Amino acid sequence: MKIKILTLFPEMFDGFQTNSIMKRALGKGVAEIEVINIRDYTTNKYGRTDTPPIGGGAGLIEQCQPIVDAMRANSTEATHKILMSPRGVTYDEKKAKEYAKLDELMIICGHYEGIDERVNSYVDELVSIGDYVLTGGEIPAMAIADSVIRLLDGAITAESLEDESFNDSALEYPQYTEPYEYEGQTVPDILYSGNHEAIAKWRRKQSLLLTRKHRPDLFAKLELSKQDKKLLAEAESGETPKWEKDALEKGHKFIKK
Ligand code: SAM
Repeated sequence: MKIKILTLFPEMFDGFQTNSIMKRALGKGVAEIEVINIRDYTTNKYGRTDTPPIGGGAGLIEQCQPIVDAMRANSTEATHKILMSPRGVTYDEKKAKEYAKLDELMIICGHYEGIDERVNSYVDELVSIGDYVLTGGEIPAMAIADSVIRLLDGAITAESLEDESFNDSALEYPQYTEPYEYEGQTVPDILYSGNHEAIAKWRRKQSLLLTRKHRPDLFAKLELSKQDKKLLAEAESGETPKWEKDALEKGHKFIKK
């Protein structure tokens, strides 16, 4: 997959591409990122890409010509073009999965007070990363590129993607590391039971409970299976269910350090 990013500040993407998982994924050829400087396309003899808004008002607005010419020079009919905008549809994991299927995604970053309204008609979608205003579209572009690339084959292990938050609109279950006790808080014993089925059930239960508590909006959209309903009923009863007791009794003894 190729991701082309149009920006007035290409250097902002240097660190993004040269660290951690993105560096490794790009190095392995999982995806390719091309950062294109909008300024290279301006026909203004002073290199300007923006002017104050017509009709008055604060700040500078990016003009159509450099952006549209940069888009035309770097895209084909098949390129999916998205403009970063607080007005856009809110980006989520579903969109990330949709974009991960594309061959080529172009992300256009606005800056300053924004972009000439007429640029909107040259893109496929306006996309927002949330109801707040950033100084530019570069951070949203990084958020989108990161969340899409990590879904591509070879970026991270398939197992890491399986149980993650938002996969079926539920949040991920809680994760723990050693030691068993940290400042009075302990790791749930079931995780030491060695019973993978019981651990999976326990994790699903926690995932459902966390989603209900922290994201009731997502919980309302979940399609609960028979087992999900049973797990929630167990939680409501306040009793440790038999499968959990059995797993604890028959499983490894707790590794308390
Ligand atoms: N004046 C604009 C408004 O009130 O909607 C805000 C412009 S903002 C300072 C400059 C650029 O940052 C925008 O053109 C857009 O590309 C990007 N941007 C800011 N917040 C964003 C968000 N929440 N999601 C996506 N892009 C955003």
